[in-house]
Amino acid sequence: MNKTVIGLEIHAQLRTDTKAFCTCRADVFDLEPNTAICPVCTGQPGTLPVLNKKVVEFAIMAGLAMNCTINKRSVFDRKNYFYPDLPKGYQITQYFFPIAENGYLYLEDGDEKRKIRIRRIHIEEDAGKMIHQGTDSITGSSGSYVDLNRCGVPLIEIVTEPDLRSPAEARVFMELLRDTVRALGVCSGDMEKGALRCDANISIVDEAGRSSNRVEVKNINSFKFVEKALEFEQERISRTLSSGGDVVKETRSWSFSSKETISMRSKEEENDYRYFPEPDLPKLIVSDDLIKRIAGNLPELPWEKIERFIRQYSLPRYDATVLSSDGNIASYFEEVAQTTHKPKESSNWIMGELMRLMNEKELSVEEVKVNPEHFKELFELIDEGKISNKIAKDIFPFIVEGRKSPMEIVKEKGLEQIDDDRVIEDALRKAMTDNPSAVEQFRDGKEGVLGYFVGAVMKATRGKANPMKVNEIARRMLKG
Ligand code: ZN
Ligand code: MN
Repeated sequence: MNKTVIGLEIHAQLRTDTKAFCTCRADVFDLEPNTAICPVCTGQPGTLPVLNKKVVEFAIMAGLAMNCTINKRSVFDRKNYFYPDLPKGYQITQYFFPIAENGYLYLEDGDEKRKIRIRRIHIEEDAGKMIHQGTDSITGSSGSYVDLNRCGVPLIEIVTEPDLRSPAEARVFMELLRDTVRALGVCSGDMEKGALRCDANISIVDEAGRSSNRVEVKNINSFKFVEKALEFEQERISRTLSSGGDVVKETRSWSFSSKETISMRSKEEENDYRYFPEPDLPKLIVSDDLIKRIAGNLPELPWEKIERFIRQYSLPRYDATVLSSDGNIASYFEEVAQTTHKPKESSNWIMGELMRLMNEKELSVEEVKVNPEHFKELFELIDEGKISNKIAKDIFPFIVEGRKSPMEIVKEKGLEQIDDDRVIEDALRKAMTDNPSAVEQFRDGKEGVLGYFVGAVMKATRGKANPMKVNEIARRMLKG
C-alpha cells in the first residue's frame, strides 16, 4: 500500500485593530482599494516599522493553545522577493528564530487520537492583492491593478510536520485549527474571505519505502477544497508513479473553476529568498510574566469544551463534538439545556431540526434561535402527550418564526393530540366495519393486521391520535 504524506502551512490573519507594524486598520476585507495604507505599510523610504504588541500576544495565545514552546527570544527577518503587491520588496517574517515551536494538536478519529505535530508558529505580515481585470490571472487580462490594503496585515504562519495521512484528515485538521483560532478569538477563521489560508505539501511513499518528490499546492480557499485539491494530487502523483514517471518537485495551484491543480513553477529553494535579520526591528523578547499571564487567561478550547459537554450534560461524544464546533451554537445549546433541564433532547433538536433549517435556508444560529422558554414548552407538550413528536416537528418552523409560543400554535392549528378514548373507538369501529375480512384475519391469529387498523385511525384523525393509545384500544377491540 502506498502511503500519503501531507504537511500543511497555514496562514491566519490576526484580528487585531491595527496592522503589524503601523497604525492602519487591519480589518480591510471589504474596504475600497488603497484606503487603509500609510507610508510604513507601502514601504516608503525612510519609514520604520513599530511592532504591534497585540500581534505578539495573539501569537503566544495560539502557540500555547497548540502546546508549543514559546521562545522568549525571537527575531524578525526579511524574506526578499519581487512582486507588485509587495512594495517593500521583502516581507517581514520570522525565519531563523520563530516565536513558537515544537507543539502538537490531537485529531479525533473515531476512538483513535492522532497527534499532529506543529513544527513552528511565526509572526509575519501579509502582502497586498493583485486584481486582474476580466480573469483570475494575469494571462489574458486587459489590465492588472494592485490593492495595497492588505500589506502589513498581521499573520501567524503555522507549519505542521508531515503527519497527516489523507486528504480527509487534512481537512479535519484545518477545521480543528479554525475552531481553535476562533475559540481563542485571534482569527475569524473564514477561509472564504482569505482570513485562513492553507498551502499543502504532499508526497507519496511506495511499498518499498521510496518517497516521491514533494508537490506544494497553493491557492486553496475553502475547507472542501483542501480535501478536493489533495485528492486530485494524490491521484495524479500515484498515477505518475505507477506509470514509472517522475514526480516533478513543483508548486501547483488549485483551480477553483476547473477543479484541478495546475503547475505554477518548479519549486524555488528556501535560499532563493536571501533571508537576513530585519535591521529595523529589535529582537523580540517576551517575559515569563507575559507568557504566564496569557496562559492563565486562555479561553476554553474546542477539545476542552467537548469533554465538559460530555461530563456536564452527559452527552454522547458525537453530540458534544458537533455542538462545540461552532462557538455560537455551543453557547446557544447551553442556554437551552439549562432552561429545559433536558440536555439530550435539547441537543437532538438543535442538531436535528434547528441545524437542518440553518442549512436549508442558509441562516446563522442567531437567525433561527428559538427562545429557550419555547423549547421548554415544546418539550412539555410532548412529555404530557399533548402533541406527538411528528406534530412537534411539523410546527417547529412556526416556532422559529418566533411570533407565537408552541402552545399557541398547537391551539390555533387544532393539533392537540387526541387522547379521548371515545374518539379513537369511533374511528376504529368505522375501520372495522369497512374491512370485516381484516378483522377475521386478526382473529385467526394474523397479528400483523393490527398495523392496518392503527394506520386507518391515524389517517382518520389526521395524525393527531395518541399512537400508543390507538395500539392498546385496537388490540382490545379487535379481539372482540
Ligand atoms: Zn500602514
Ligand atoms: Mn508565510
